[in-house]
Amino acid sequence: MKTLTGVPVSSGIVSGKAFLYVESEFPEITRYSLHKNQVDPELKRLDKAIADAMADLKVIHERAVREMSKDQADIFAAHIMMLEDQDFIDQLHGRLKETLQNAECVVSDIARGMMQKMMASPDPLFRERAVDINDISKRILNQLLEIKQVSLAELDRDVIVVAHDLLPSEVLTMNKSRVKGIVMDGGGRTSHTAILARAFDIPAVLGLSTATREISNDDILVVDGVAGQVTVNPDKRDLNAYKKADTQYRKKQDEFNAIRELPAETTDGCRVTLKANIELPEEAEQVLHYGAEGIGLYRSEFLFLTPGQAAEEEMQYQAYSQVIKALGDLPVTIRTVDIGGDKILPDFQVTANEKNPLLGWRAIRFSLALPELFKTQLRAILRASVEGNVRIMFPLISGIEELEQARALLVEAKAECRARKQPFADNIEVGAMIEVPSAAMTADILAEGSDFFSIGTNDLIQYSLAVDRGNERVNYLAQPTHPAVLRFLKMTIDAAHKKGIKAAMCGELAGDSSVTALLLGLGLDEFSMAAQSIPHVKRIVRGVSMKSCRKLAEEALKGTSWIQNATLVKAWMVKNLPA
Ligand code: PEP
Ligand code: MG
Repeated sequence: MKTLTGVPVSSGIVSGKAFLYVESEFPEITRYSLHKNQVDPELKRLDKAIADAMADLKVIHERAVREMSKDQADIFAAHIMMLEDQDFIDQLHGRLKETLQNAECVVSDIARGMMQKMMASPDPLFRERAVDINDISKRILNQLLEIKQVSLAELDRDVIVVAHDLLPSEVLTMNKSRVKGIVMDGGGRTSHTAILARAFDIPAVLGLSTATREISNDDILVVDGVAGQVTVNPDKRDLNAYKKADTQYRKKQDEFNAIRELPAETTDGCRVTLKANIELPEEAEQVLHYGAEGIGLYRSEFLFLTPGQAAEEEMQYQAYSQVIKALGDLPVTIRTVDIGGDKILPDFQVTANEKNPLLGWRAIRFSLALPELFKTQLRAILRASVEGNVRIMFPLISGIEELEQARALLVEAKAECRARKQPFADNIEVGAMIEVPSAAMTADILAEGSDFFSIGTNDLIQYSLAVDRGNERVNYLAQPTHPAVLRFLKMTIDAAHKKGIKAAMCGELAGDSSVTALLLGLGLDEFSMAAQSIPHVKRIVRGVSMKSCRKLAEEALKGTSWIQNATLVKAWMVKNLPA
């Protein structure tokens, strides 16, 4: 038995069997030539591999129909159709006979050729098929090479996934009904994998560094997503402790249910707004169970990141409408795509080759460089805006020029909707995300062009302290109470108030109840977070007075180090909010 300690990123306590997930690479192949008399047996070997891949796929598809969403099941149905395509099979046979090369080479060459052609197509639907070709050819190759590999989408038993790192797209497509917990070597609280784990309510501990080395397949694990601990092969005493912690956790959840309908108001009558962050339209309805007063951040890029989905205007419009309708009259803030960084779009692999993706072609930079793609999204949002209460927000604004350019494209998108006679809310509010130091420093200037601000602390902390948010080695430096961060927050909130607009926060810090009092004291109007965190934050808001929070913030702003400030905030909490 051993216990590993990491970063708790998604609460809940679970136990189950470990499933070690090793990223599936395109397999290495050996090239060799065939004699004429080897051609027929090689063709038979190829046909058998295709038939076996097909048999596997059919089983996976049937399971997907039972256990996954229709969209996910449809991906496998499309793969079956591709494997059945006689043209594809004829091409493979033809190439093998013509080149006298082994089946692995033929499959790999044909697949690469097809993928290259597809990736160069201007049609996004066609470009997307490249991912599918990659997938089915890998399946045939794995059969030929006798490699047994189970993808996360194919899981057929309950497991705790143990990985070095997971891409957001892998989390998105895994069979979530079978993944009971996530344990990872890399990642931190604000990494996108963590954000998705919270969205799907899967207990997760990340940043463990050595989990994949210390855990073997089928080890029994207890994942404590509250304390950030993973116990490997627990003894009886530990299992009992786990059950006790789980009962306590559930009791606390019941207490939170009791305050769901109550307002987020301090003891001296100051009201703030608590909203939820979502990544997928399906989450919209469930955030209401946690008492969300709207959606403060809809990360729309996840629509584009799901393999097999083309983010066409109509499909986007449907997704936005679904969210807006689920929320009724409550406000929904849709953030335009934040592609890049760790969120790589299958259609735009070029972003994957940057040396410094976090400083590169991401978010609003990507949208402004592809104005047609951007305006497609804006039109979809505008069209959906008549169905409820919608706001638009631009990510990673670093200066007024970007905000002005984005607004100009919004004007164009409105004109296009008008020309098509599609109604929209003309007075739709537009906000800038403040997540780059230059934006915080010029918040007074940006306020002139914004109807609201939303502070993205995940990036603001990353960029102001030069700490990669997904790198567990430097995570200890990502301290929200660092004087630089507090000053940026104060400048942003003050600039918003001076202009008479609201200051919101949608970074993970907004859901960290250990700093809620400090954020209240700094003047934050709106907190948007993973829905699970809303009751925790509300409990704090309802237990403190704004007057005392302001004093705390004043003190913290005088602090000279994050340690000093963290100690101050902790001591304040113990004094003012006994557990
Ligand atoms: C942030 O940076 O705080 C934010 C909310 O955006 P994201 O986490 O999607 O980068
Ligand atoms: Mg961000």
